[in-house]
Amino acid sequence: MVGFMSRVWDKMEAASSRLPIVLNAVLVFSITAEVSYLVLVEAPLEQAQKKTEWSKIWKAMHLLAQYFMLGNITWNASLFMKTNPSIRGVFLGGDVLGQGWRYCYTCETHTPPRCSHCYDCNVCVLRRDHHCVFFGRCVGFGNYRYFLNCLLFMWAGLLYAVIMNAEVFMVILKEGVTIHSVMLLLVPWLMFVSGQVTTRAFAFAFIADTCVLGFLLVAAFLFFHVVLMLRGQTTREWYSTRRPYNQGVLANIREYMGKYWYICWLCPLIPSPLPGDGINFKVTGSLEPRK
Ligand SMILES: [Zn+2]
Ligand SMILES: [Zn+2]
Repeated sequence: MVGFMSRVWDKMEAASSRLPIVLNAVLVFSITAEVSYLVLVEAPLEQAQKKTEWSKIWKAMHLLAQYFMLGNITWNASLFMKTNPSIRGVFLGGDVLGQGWRYCYTCETHTPPRCSHCYDCNVCVLRRDHHCVFFGRCVGFGNYRYFLNCLLFMWAGLLYAVIMNAEVFMVILKEGVTIHSVMLLLVPWLMFVSGQVTTRAFAFAFIADTCVLGFLLVAAFLFFHVVLMLRGQTTREWYSTRRPYNQGVLANIREYMGKYWYICWLCPLIPSPLPGDGINFKVTGSLEPRK
């Protein structure tokens, strides 16, 4: 009985750790489906325009752009999950007593500079940035490129979805700025549960709201991580106000995105080897925290 309960508990724990990624996937796919519907069925075109050849090209271009962004988001996300950023399977040769090397009592090994232990992943991660709660995985040396590109396309996709959904906001507000329309935009769930709006109106208002909130959140994350990349810092180093590995803007971008940084963001399959090994880093400043 105890064995059965612990197995059920383990299964529930494993399922709950996947919950954020499942919710994210549902949101990304629902938004894409809604925007595709807007383009195909409710395209903001005049009646005369809808019958022309141009309307077909216009729709095809929109769908192409949407699925290009969706493809990049899901592909980068899956490569992010597949790429191991930890010290597992990595030969940590080198100057173990050198500057910045530490001993991890949990992993029972010497770890290189910028590496730190993640208690969620239960392993030391090379040039660890942070543990991403949305993916349930650490962002580190090996998978930073996929993380940043996924964020970039989520930002672009949400910006596009917000613009496309402007029509939805306008339709809702067309009835005038009434308590009903404002409540539908601010608390669509409440209006739906209390039976004030139809399922269709709720679904559109909910997705349009999610796009705006998601866009603001992703824009803030993206901005923060682009600034960190340009400064050659990890989130941990930013907290301690250290910048000992800054090599100048271009070299910093190359360190994070690889040799072909200027083109590799277009598709995760474009190879872009990283210049370093995640173990040895060029020190250009003081390793002590600034006062
Ligand atoms: Zn460790
Ligand atoms: Zn982690």
